[in-house]
Order: sequence, then C-alpha cells, then structure tokens
Amino acid sequence: MWFWLLRLLRWLEEVILGRRSPKTPADRNPSKAPPADIFFARTDVVEKSPSNDTVRPGQFISVVHKGRSYWALFRCPCGCGDVVSLPTQAPHDPRWRIEVSLEGRPTLHPSVWRTKGCLSHFWLSDGRVYWCEDTGVEPCRARPDVYARKL
Ligand SMILES: [Zn+2]
Repeated sequence: MWFWLLRLLRWLEEVILGRRSPKTPADRNPSKAPPADIFFARTDVVEKSPSNDTVRPGQFISVVHKGRSYWALFRCPCGCGDVVSLPTQAPHDPRWRIEVSLEGRPTLHPSVWRTKGCLSHFWLSDGRVYWCEDTGVEPCRARPDVYARKL
C-alpha cells in the first residue's frame, strides 16, 4: 500500500515539477548498500562561500544565508583534489538538497556526477560516500538517453 502511494507521489512529482527520477542501477538508493566508512563527519554551516583553496579535504561546507541554503562545497572524495560546488537554491537546475543528521553528517539528494575532471559519480548519505558503477564515465556517454552532451 505504502509502496504504491510512494510511486504515485513520485510520479506526481515528476509530472508536476518536471523532475526526473534516477533510473540507472547505479542510482539505486544507497540505504540498501552496507554502510560505507564515514567520510564527512560533520557539516560546517557558513554564511559566505569560502574560496576554494580554504576547503579542507573531508570538510563539508553548507552555505546558508538568512535561513536559506545556497551552496554545498567539499573536495571531491575520489582524492583528485577538485572542489565540488553544488547549488542548493532555485533557480539552479539541477540543484541539490542537503539533509544534516542529528550527528551533523550530511546527506545530498540527488547523486553527484561530475561532468569534468575525474567524472566521479557517487551518493553522499549520512556523511558516507557510495560510489556508482559508472563513475569515471561522462554522464552523456553512460546515459545518453537521459543526459545530453553540453556543447
Ligand atoms: Zn575527483
């Protein structure tokens, strides 16, 4: 019963908001995977976006101004050293949603798939990184049916 209700809500969300739901096996909910090690132990909430060179490895930064979330910043967990900046505010599309656990560990929705550099693809859940099978492949190559190549 709940399952069908959730399916219906998901469908309505897609139809009304034009959101695409993740469909690849790699995009499966990481809650079904055995827990990975904690990578981001806490969330640092700041008012202003820091410069990239001040972002430390393993640090997860949430930029919140006057109660509104604007950005998530962290160094890519693959170790490439790049700072990943994700918009969390409208009108950015895509944009991410940050949830912080009682312990302060961050969860991001949807998954992160870098379109340059290392092309890492992962879920961040409860401060833990869950790698997708198609990490290292461009989204438009791995899923041409979903992602168009940006010119
Ligand atoms: Zn990387």
